[in-house]
Amino acid sequence: MATKDEQQPLHILFLPFLVPGHLIPIADMAAIFAARGVRCTILTTPVNAAVIRSAVDRANDALRGDTGGGPAIEIAVVPFPDVGLPPGVESGTALTSEEDRGKFFNAVQRLREPFDRFMAERRPDAVVADGFFTWSVDAAAEHGVPRLVFLGTSVFARSCIDSMVRNNPVETSADDDPDAVVSLPGLPHSVELRRSQMIDPKKRPDHWAFFQTMNAADQRSYGEVFNSFHEMEPEYVEHYRAALGRRTWIVGPVALASKDVAARGTSELSPDADACLRWLDAKPDGSVVYISFGTLSIFSPAEMRELARGLDLSGKNFVWVTNGAADDTDAPEWMPEGFADLISPRGERGLTIRGWAPQMLILNHPAVGGFVTHCGWNSTLEAVSAGVPMVTWPRYADQFYNEKLIMDVLKVGVGVGSRDFASNLENRRAIGGEVIAGAIRRVMDDGEEGEAIREKARELGVKARGATEKGGSSYDDVGRLMDALMTRRSSFDV
Ligand code: UDP
Repeated sequence: MATKDEQQPLHILFLPFLVPGHLIPIADMAAIFAARGVRCTILTTPVNAAVIRSAVDRANDALRGDTGGGPAIEIAVVPFPDVGLPPGVESGTALTSEEDRGKFFNAVQRLREPFDRFMAERRPDAVVADGFFTWSVDAAAEHGVPRLVFLGTSVFARSCIDSMVRNNPVETSADDDPDAVVSLPGLPHSVELRRSQMIDPKKRPDHWAFFQTMNAADQRSYGEVFNSFHEMEPEYVEHYRAALGRRTWIVGPVALASKDVAARGTSELSPDADACLRWLDAKPDGSVVYISFGTLSIFSPAEMRELARGLDLSGKNFVWVTNGAADDTDAPEWMPEGFADLISPRGERGLTIRGWAPQMLILNHPAVGGFVTHCGWNSTLEAVSAGVPMVTWPRYADQFYNEKLIMDVLKVGVGVGSRDFASNLENRRAIGGEVIAGAIRRVMDDGEEGEAIREKARELGVKARGATEKGGSSYDDVGRLMDALMTRRSSFDV
């Protein structure tokens, strides 16, 4: 007979990192667990709570009948720590200097206080904490609660980072030419990058030290939860589990669980959603390229100008989210002559969006035939789920690894030849418009190469959707994690 404790639903606390690209998948993941009867709480600060409020409300509305009226997902809103940042600056997207970045990471440390209070009062069964909260491994252990780490990236990229940290191939390679090829040892495929595309521990000692701290914290965790799906990167799931001995649950693509495809990730429904869909409705299937670089990337005027030229030269219709432009005027300094005549309302070739684009709706519209992306993991997986091939333009973080996965392993994209791993505050070489146009055409034009890429993208999209359906690999992994946590709870009851 079940004990009383076994009848209580599991309760998971989610602690997302304070940027939209980590908050959005955590809200989607909470919706997935809530739909399976888990009580979920997301602990975050007011500005970040606003990013996920609408997604959480809609997930709760959809589950209302199952929970007897109460919300299945709660957001525990805690004040942003007073670290000397201006009021309302609570997100990685709002930081404009290295000094503010330092203060922000101080706040990330200080969130331990409200976390500890929550743990003491509510005693959840598990914590899913973002890898950036390295302190949470000890904090959770002190409360006797298992910490699962969420890294917001692919198993492929995570395996590459693990190889980097173990082998330090950049520092040990004799050739310090930025174009020198560096191999990452011990992976299922031969993975090679240019030196300039990787973190150089000598040039970025803080970054490197943080990677090591994060890796060590992850290894001491109960396990890792990935927003990915087994069929996309089976060799890497196997490598991560067997060769590296890590306990992992692969539960994505979590975006497919979203009940809030238009307003997902914003505090307001995008005013452009309807207009954008109407514009797309008027275009032939597969004729539009969608261009967006996520929530953090900033492009120099020179880069914007070349991209605009590239879109013009490609001959394709386009929807371009221009948030990455440093300037925001009606006549931006980057716009090449004649470009304004291409875009709505003056012209019919293109639509630019400044604000929050309904990315999931756009990617799933039949008119969209390609996606120029910075290879942020959410965007990558959203394109994969929609069966849309990619033109890859990585800039930093895990993006160069994700590009390798897209281009070389999955073969669902073509690169623009991005070579510089650089933050928004650093310089990088602009990529020429002709090269950008060429990459777009390779993915979208008729002909053997484009057909093969599009076919692979379509097939992968079908597998992605299958993974999250009942009986699919991700669906089953959610169940396996719940069983493991339930077993753990019962073993502590005796
Ligand atoms: N996103 C969106 N509309 C926008 C910009 C971004 O819906 O105008 C969403 C996008 O769908 C994705 C997330 O924001 O879910 C961005 O995450 P990603 O990992 O791609 O990039 P990051 O912003 O973290 O670099």
